[in-house]
Amino acid sequence: MYKGSCLCGGVSYELRGELGPIVFCHCSRCRKAQGTAFGTNSPVQKNEFHLLSGQELLTEYESSPGKHRVFCGRCGSPVYSRNTALPHLLRLRIGLLDTPIAARPVAHIYASSHAEWEAISDALPQHEANIP
Ligand SMILES: [Zn+2]
Ligand SMILES: [Zn+2]
Repeated sequence: MYKGSCLCGGVSYELRGELGPIVFCHCSRCRKAQGTAFGTNSPVQKNEFHLLSGQELLTEYESSPGKHRVFCGRCGSPVYSRNTALPHLLRLRIGLLDTPIAARPVAHIYASSHAEWEAISDALPQHEANIP
């Protein structure tokens, strides 16, 4: 089980299940949403995600058709994204986890969009777009 919370602490949750493959996403939308070079995301089962507090703070922005980025409306922490085409999944922003994570990231996605000021300097596979 994992616990997570946003920067202000208003949003907190438990993940009563496992993380899916952790990826670094270098797409330009993640860059803007996170304010940094890439997002670090893991797909999780929606029915294993339990919000403990902050329902009233969760704010959504539809950044591309069907893709909703969900963040804390008070502190701005990105919590997860959801895609209406994949209703059983959430893509968790794992920087909000407070529980130690044993798994390690497996890949870079949208590597071809990476910021020109960022050097991808590890040996993980780099995918031009999403993982097939
Ligand atoms: Zn917050
Ligand atoms: Zn992205």
